[in-house]
Amino acid sequence: MNGKTDIIVVGTGASGLFYALNIPANKHVQMITKTAVDESDSYLAQGGICVLRNEDDYDSFFEDTLKAGHYENDPDSVEVMIRTSPEIIADLLRLGVEFETRNGELAYTKEGAHSKPRILYHEDLTGKEITSKLLAQVRKRKNITIIENMAMIDLICQQNRCSGVVANDKNGQIHLFNADYVVLATGGLGGLFHSSTNLQHLTGDAIAIALKRAIALENISYIQIHPTTLYSQKPGRRFLISESVRGEGAVLYNRKMQRFVDELLPRDLLTKAIQEQMAQDESDFVWLSMQKMGSDVIKVRFPNIYQHCLEEGYDITRECIPVTPAQHYFMGGVKVNLESRTSMEHLYAVGEISCNRVHGANRLASNSLLESLVFAKRAANDTIKYYETARGDQPMIDFADYQDLEQLKFDYKTSILDEIERSKVIERIDHKKA
Ligand SMILES: Cc1cc2nc3c(=O)[nH]c(=O)nc-3n(C[C@H](O)[C@H](O)[C@H](O)COP(=O)(O)OP(=O)(O)OC[C@H]3O[C@@H](n4cnc5c(N)ncnc54)[C@H](O)[C@@H]3O)c2cc1C
Repeated sequence: MNGKTDIIVVGTGASGLFYALNIPANKHVQMITKTAVDESDSYLAQGGICVLRNEDDYDSFFEDTLKAGHYENDPDSVEVMIRTSPEIIADLLRLGVEFETRNGELAYTKEGAHSKPRILYHEDLTGKEITSKLLAQVRKRKNITIIENMAMIDLICQQNRCSGVVANDKNGQIHLFNADYVVLATGGLGGLFHSSTNLQHLTGDAIAIALKRAIALENISYIQIHPTTLYSQKPGRRFLISESVRGEGAVLYNRKMQRFVDELLPRDLLTKAIQEQMAQDESDFVWLSMQKMGSDVIKVRFPNIYQHCLEEGYDITRECIPVTPAQHYFMGGVKVNLESRTSMEHLYAVGEISCNRVHGANRLASNSLLESLVFAKRAANDTIKYYETARGDQPMIDFADYQDLEQLKFDYKTSILDEIERSKVIERIDHKKA
């Protein structure tokens, strides 16, 4: 498959879909995705999406985000995210997304490190609700097409200008997609880790390609561990026990069934406390109890978690579950400005793979779907405002580079993990200097 399109979006999670929906109908958007269209972390989001409820909450929302991020956040990015949040929620409602309501008004929940309830949710399936509705809208648009099982393995570029994507299908066949603009919306990198809440095919491919193509990266070692995932000895993805469970009153116990921590600490601090407790207990997990919430509340508020735990052999209305920390979110990524432009011309990055430093060193719960949508829309608006069609000849592609796809995958993984280690060393040196 060789062809030219206006814009190619790599990834069909919330950020990629929302970018595409914000492009006018006179531009063709080709979306490609590594596996099935609905296999994205966006579908897995349980807790919810933050929103600025009113002006009175601005300062505390801002401060909560910065405090969780250890004040390493870019204040301009945070301001843009918070200020744009009501507009994004209005967009979602218009597109058919349904959030929980109480007496006809939107209902809000709270999670760790939030000083006020400001999170909109849909049961414990908020991500599925948002992403499936975005996908339904995309499917209605004649100017947007999606190809599944098509994995980006390189960018087509010369002289720091991007003009397309090299991809392979599931039979290993190589395809070239030429375009005026390319948007990276490839999500996180949990697939590189032994234990992660992310889908296994999310392996940070865009980071490896950015390293290869000298595209600027930022905060690449800033990887968030989620404190509470369901402990399992089975290989594969770890099931998340959402922070909103603790926000609604679940408590953590050590081996002796004693509470040992404030369950609503920011994620990094809670993770540290749990890891210390696990070491003391000489155990691979601690216990989480939701019983105090009551059976009815659990079943209505957290039906997905209830059902999943039941399938794993735990009835959370009656018993504790073993939980343990696992890799969860990538705060770093491809460096972008406030319009999601990367250091390479005609190349944008949106969602979890991008880094505009909105999250600083540690993401505040339920800020990532919001961030993905806010900056995807800005990227789409920026693309259209400055639209330029491709000029000149396309660079020659050396297909020999892609002959051994297994080796390429291995090299990409190694290059990302090496870069993460390298930047950790630089961080340690910088801290010593400070
Ligand atoms: C279990 C879980 C619960 C979460 N809960 C919340 C929550 O409650 N609130 C919140 O705000 N955030 C939450 N998050 C985080 C949030 O879901 C993600 O940060 C966000 O959805 C990322 O969206 P995205 O569009 O950037 O990436 P994703 O939704 O992960 O989509 C990435 C897309 O890129 C594709 N892709 C990847 N590599 C390639 C490639 N090489 N070629 C082609 N396609 C590729 C994938 O197939 C996929 O379509 C949660 C995350 C997890 C894992």
